[in-house]
Amino acid sequence: MEDKICSICDKQFKGYGNNAYPVNDGICCNECNHLIVLSMRFNLKYRGGYKND
Ligand SMILES: [Zn+2]
Repeated sequence: MEDKICSICDKQFKGYGNNAYPVNDGICCNECNHLIVLSMRFNLKYRGGYKND
């Protein structure tokens, strides 16, 4: 399994990586995926998409 570089925290990680969208268009490690990407997607969905305030 080749090492990859997380496009968010620049750490090396092993594995397939995760789509870093909407943070950027690269890939990210599991840690950033859970801590940053998923919460940003959640915010986009519930703050940006459906509510009008
Ligand atoms: Zn990362």
